Amino acid sequence: MELTQANYYEHDTDFKYMSVSIFKDFMKCEAATLAMLKEDWQPNRDNTALLVGNWLHSFFESQEAHDKFKSDNAKFIYKYGNSDKGIKSQYKQADSMISVLKHDEAFTNVYEPGQKEVIVTGKIDGYPWKGKIDSLVLDHGYFCDLKTTADIHKGIYDPEVRHRVPFVKAYGYYMQMAVYQELIKQQFGVECQPFIFAVSKQDPPDKMAIDFNSVDDGYELDGALEFIKDNQKRVWDVMNGEIKPKRCGKCEYCRMTNMIENFTHASEIEVD
Ligand SMILES: [Zn+2]
Repeated sequence: MELTQANYYEHDTDFKYMSVSIFKDFMKCEAATLAMLKEDWQPNRDNTALLVGNWLHSFFESQEAHDKFKSDNAKFIYKYGNSDKGIKSQYKQADSMISVLKHDEAFTNVYEPGQKEVIVTGKIDGYPWKGKIDSLVLDHGYFCDLKTTADIHKGIYDPEVRHRVPFVKAYGYYMQMAVYQELIKQQFGVECQPFIFAVSKQDPPDKMAIDFNSVDDGYELDGALEFIKDNQKRVWDVMNGEIKPKRCGKCEYCRMTNMIENFTHASEIEVD
């Protein structure tokens, strides 16, 4: 199956190629993710954050992509769905985030020259993966990802290490960078270094250019690929119906489909 800009996010392609976001969903709850991929269930997500992110991405992709984004999503982003009535307040921040990046020299020099939305595919330990690179600059050996986040300096609690960690670690961006680096290497034969340009949703927005060049970053990138290698076989077996998906027991899907089958000992209620 050939991946295109039109079918990249379709669930059909998710059964042919793993992606970082679907893999991360499987790590949270297999039952919910499988139900979503089979289109038996749709998560009740607030799509504001997604739209703000897409708004920025499309702006720095091309005028054409940005116009298309705005007309496709008019009913969400404009008051009464009408562009003459102005942008809804929750989307005004998207414009100030764009303005902050547009006027930043490092961003315009590093991010803007790249080829945008480049689809890459390859194999990790024999299993097929896909990725979409925000901005790829092969001749200088790097790629960039653009991230919007509430506050770049806000720590997010990580139950595994039992303390707060930066958003890059908490949201699995080491894994994303490691996979993209590997897929670019396989597809183009170039070892590229990853960068993230982060912009915050604060007023005024904060911004940061992030590299992965410290010794600890190296461990995190390697560790993320190892984690995938250790867990992907089970994910594929669940997707192919060979293993029954495990329920996390706590998410929206599990709550919705929960039936009481047994008593739980009071002392054994799972807590986070
Ligand atoms: Zn669940």
